[in-house]
Amino acid sequence: MTGGGDTMLWAPQAWIDGQWAHAVRLQADRSGQWTAIEAGTPAPAGATLLPGPVLPGLVDAHSHAFQRAFAGMAERREGEHDDFWSWRDRMYGVAGRITPGQLRAVATQLYAELLAGGFTQVCEFHYLHHEHTGSLRGDPMAMCQALMQAAADTGIGLTLLPVLYERAGFDSPGLRPEQQRFQADAAAVLALRDGVRALGQTRVSAGVAIHSLRAAPVASLRDLLAGLGSDPGPIHIHIAEQAAEVQACEQHLQARPIEWLAREFALDARWQLVHATHAKPGEIEAVAASGAGVVLCPSTEANLGDGLCDLPRWLAAGTPLSLGTDSHVGRGAAEELRWLEYGQRLIRRERNVAADPSRAGGATAARLFERVLAGGAAAAGLPRWGLRTGARADLVVLDPEAPGLLGMPATHALDAWVFAGNSPAVSEVWVAGQRRVARGVHVQQAAFAAPYVAAMASLYGPQM
Ligand SMILES: [Zn+2]
Repeated sequence: MTGGGDTMLWAPQAWIDGQWAHAVRLQADRSGQWTAIEAGTPAPAGATLLPGPVLPGLVDAHSHAFQRAFAGMAERREGEHDDFWSWRDRMYGVAGRITPGQLRAVATQLYAELLAGGFTQVCEFHYLHHEHTGSLRGDPMAMCQALMQAAADTGIGLTLLPVLYERAGFDSPGLRPEQQRFQADAAAVLALRDGVRALGQTRVSAGVAIHSLRAAPVASLRDLLAGLGSDPGPIHIHIAEQAAEVQACEQHLQARPIEWLAREFALDARWQLVHATHAKPGEIEAVAASGAGVVLCPSTEANLGDGLCDLPRWLAAGTPLSLGTDSHVGRGAAEELRWLEYGQRLIRRERNVAADPSRAGGATAARLFERVLAGGAAAAGLPRWGLRTGARADLVVLDPEAPGLLGMPATHALDAWVFAGNSPAVSEVWVAGQRRVARGVHVQQAAFAAPYVAAMASLYGPQM
């Protein structure tokens, strides 16, 4: 299995450079990086034989881990009107009371599920900065450390993004009482980023985030960017998710959110625009020209009634695209890719919308997968990613005996995983040369379940 501290793996087929390669030897060193990947070679003596087609791990580029505790808890109509804003008020109930210990348990369960869903790195858009009592005097790193501990326990890679959050809306000078624990100005955000980096935890990096244009005054945005200078860490921002937010921005800044952002700041490849649902062609062109990426969260955007993005235009513009599971109503990469395409089919009454229109026989799943593979790495600030030497030794093994894949020709394994898999078809997941998921579940799932159940019971009380 190993020689000189190396991990030697062999796969019947692996997705390399956008296509299936066969009989692939994959070798990782002691530090957990790929040192050799070679196709068309028999399994070396002592190699671990991977039990199915191998994909690179994907990045989940947008997560609020605490919202895992709320998934499924807002699916009953409580009033005449039910939309994103009423959902948000109910979500604040959990946001306001979750403790560091509960967050750790919930995030651990979540990260184990994300791994089993094919994600090996997660970008945490983290705004629960202060104590659940609302006290601003507690340890400002406690909630960050809860997330970092969950990453360490599950093995997932983590890009932690402390969030700038200062006001309730464009016309509001401060936060609502239930938003007090979100409060962080530019200096606080930079201090949290530096605090995460100083801990030097393996597979953990840090960038920054801006909650939204409505939640941060222009002067604070400028302070944060001045403080960042040329720091290479990613900069994420929620933008143009809701039509009402676009209207409020037009009213207060006399421009649409993406239009305003692209005009006022020198966007570059560090910037990741989360959702960017309501973008006009000129805004898409401006983002594409800047090199900034867009993070799409299909199952959450559907759940919250956000609307549908102009996917064909984003794809044609060459914008780096990535996936996020955001509120965690969905936690698998295949489901997000399927929703991304199906939303477009439903509204356009066409098929294979995301396939390259200039290529006959172009595969929808392959084009989307390649785009989010590269875009996710950019969103997480990882310069080398995927099945290539020098990248972290992550991989996902599909189960060839899962109902969606059983009997399928090898050429169509990716198509079937995305579009014909009603049941989870991930068999194993490896991160940095270590197997973390086996037979479709995290190898420590049993140990993670009890603290998660206890956290849910204490969050929701005995009526559950
Ligand atoms: Zn979000």
